Amino acid sequence: MHSASSLPVASPTPALTAAISPLLGQSLDQLTAWVAAQGQPAYRGKQLHQWIYEKGVHSLGDITVFSKAWRADIAAVPVGRSQLHLRSKAPDGTIKYLLRLHDGLIIEAVGIPTAKRLTVCVSSQVGCPMACDFCATGKGGFLRNLDTHEIVDQVLTVQQDFGQRVSNIVFMGMGEPLLNTDSVVAAIRCLNQDVGIGQRNMTLSTVGIPGHIRRLAEQHLQVTLAVSLHASNQAQREQLIPSARQYRLEALLAECQDYVATTGRRVSFEYILLAGLNDRPEHAAELAHHVGGFQSHVNLIPYNPISEVDYQRPSDVQIQDFMEELQRRNVAVSVRYSRGLEKDAACGQLRATQIAPPMDSQIPS
Ligand code: SAH
Repeated sequence: MHSASSLPVASPTPALTAAISPLLGQSLDQLTAWVAAQGQPAYRGKQLHQWIYEKGVHSLGDITVFSKAWRADIAAVPVGRSQLHLRSKAPDGTIKYLLRLHDGLIIEAVGIPTAKRLTVCVSSQVGCPMACDFCATGKGGFLRNLDTHEIVDQVLTVQQDFGQRVSNIVFMGMGEPLLNTDSVVAAIRCLNQDVGIGQRNMTLSTVGIPGHIRRLAEQHLQVTLAVSLHASNQAQREQLIPSARQYRLEALLAECQDYVATTGRRVSFEYILLAGLNDRPEHAAELAHHVGGFQSHVNLIPYNPISEVDYQRPSDVQIQDFMEELQRRNVAVSVRYSRGLEKDAACGQLRATQIAPPMDSQIPS
C-alpha cells in the first residue's frame, strides 16, 4: 500500500517526538503551527496537509517537496497510518480490509462501491463491549478505543485502494461509537474539513448509551444518527442487547426525540429482522407506535448469519410483509440488504479473526 522511505531514518530529537501525536487527524492550522515550531514557513504546513490527506503518505520521509535535510530530521515522526494486514474482495465488489495498528492490534474496515458512491464502513473501537447477541464483533470482547487518526486512516486506506473519492461514511464497523465520542467527533470533523466528505453523507450508528445521544446532539453535527433498536419492546430488547437492561426503551426514544429537536435531522432506526422472533405483525404495530411520533425512518436489516448463534433470516416474503405492515401505519421504511456477505464483510460479521502477528514479522500487503 505504501512505499517505505528510501532516506536514512534519523532519530528525531526527544523534543520532536515527545508528546507528538500522529499528524493524521490534525487540521491545517495545527499542521501549520507544527511546521512553524520547527522554524519552517507557513506554506510548508499547507504542503504537509496536502501530502497527508490528498497524497496519503505513510511517512514524512516521502514528502519530496521538503528538503532532504529536513525530511531526514522528521522521518520518524509518525503520520499515523495503519499497515494493510489482509484485503479480501467479495464477488459484489465489496472489499474488506484488516488493518494492523501501531500496537499490533487488528481492526476491520469495509469499502462498498455502488454505481455513484463509495461508502466506507469504519470501526470506532477494537472489538466491542456491548455484547449484542446477534453480532460477531461482540463475541470477541473489547480491547480499546480507536484514536482519531486510526478512524481517519480507514477512510484514506479505502480511498487510496479504490483510487476513487469516498463519498459516504457509516460508523457501523467494529465498536460502539458513543463509547468513544471524543475521537469519533474529532474524526468526523477531520473527515469533513480535511478529507472533504460532507457531514450529511456520514451516518453514526449506536446501540444507545444513556445520556450520550444528548451529548452528541450538543456537538451540532449534520451527520445522520442511526439507532440500533432491533426490538419493539423492552423485554425483547433486553434479550438481544444486554446493555438495554440499564436503558429503558422510553428513555432511549426520549433522547432520540431531543436529537431531532436539537439538530433538525431525522433519526434512523435500525431493526434486524430475526425470523419468528421480532418479525410478526404485532411487532410491526409496536414498532410503529414507538417511532410514529417524530421525524424518523426505519431501516430493516435481514439478519446476517454468524456462527455462534442460530437465529434465522426471514424469507423475502416475510420481510416484505413486515415492511408493508409498517407502511400501513405511515412509517417511512426501507430494507437494507448488506453487501459483502460472502466474505463475512456484512453488517454484524466483522470480527478480529486474525491474531496480531509480532511487530517484526512479514505482513502480506
Ligand atoms: N455499535 C453500533 C455500530 C456497530 S453495528 C450499533 O450497534 O449500532 C452496525 C449495525 O450492524 C447495527 O445496526 C448492528 O445492530 C448491525 N448488526 C450487528 N450484527 C448484525 C447481524 N448479524 N446481521 C445484521 N446486522 C447486524
